Amino acid sequence: MNIVAIDGPAAAGKGTLARRLAAELGLPYLDTGLLYRAVGRLVLDAGADPRDPAAAEAAARRLDPADLARDDLRGPAADAASSAVAAIPGVRAALLEFQRGFGTKGGAVLDGRDIGTVIFPDAPAKLFVTASAAERARRRWLELRDQGSDAELATVEREMRERDERDSARAAAPLRPAEDAVTIDTSQMNAEAAFQAALAVVRQRLAGIACK
Ligand code: C5P
Repeated sequence: MNIVAIDGPAAAGKGTLARRLAAELGLPYLDTGLLYRAVGRLVLDAGADPRDPAAAEAAARRLDPADLARDDLRGPAADAASSAVAAIPGVRAALLEFQRGFGTKGGAVLDGRDIGTVIFPDAPAKLFVTASAAERARRRWLELRDQGSDAELATVEREMRERDERDSARAAAPLRPAEDAVTIDTSQMNAEAAFQAALAVVRQRLAGIACK
């Protein structure tokens, strides 16, 4: 089963890395954060509270893959709503099959918070991609600035720390490295160095499994 599971906190560079690994290995890629973001959005659209289990579970059950392409899944409101719905066990249960189904058709690269611990605990290649909170906040802030936002660095860092704290402290599938994950700290790495480090681990772990 050529599954590459990539977990880690917000803005650690998981998405860029996962997308490049998928292209290199000829595997499909799923950003599982989009699932929680889309559920959070559906709850907000319905005028409900993302912390309300009934509203969030109903939204997770009616999630359509087309919702993942919405253009309003990023930004502070979507960040907070996604992390609130993600703490609700019924939401996680409703999204489980979609994620497993995506990977079992012939392998995949998936990134998120619980891919190596819950979704694919038997994945042969698991990475935990992280960086210091200050560096992750700086990267997210630069990204937002490029998009025309005038958000303050301190605000970005505070909101990111709050989200990481919620994701790590929750009872349901908390953010943590799988025991057999290789941790890559990208604080001092550029995207290319992070990619090369990750590719070396993945090639070694998938040795013998046919990819592209
Ligand atoms: O990865 P991203 O920042 O887009 O994820 C948004 C939120 O979705 C996270 O803060 C987390 O609460 C939740 N999430 C999760 N499990 C995943 C992926 C994302 O709980 N596998």
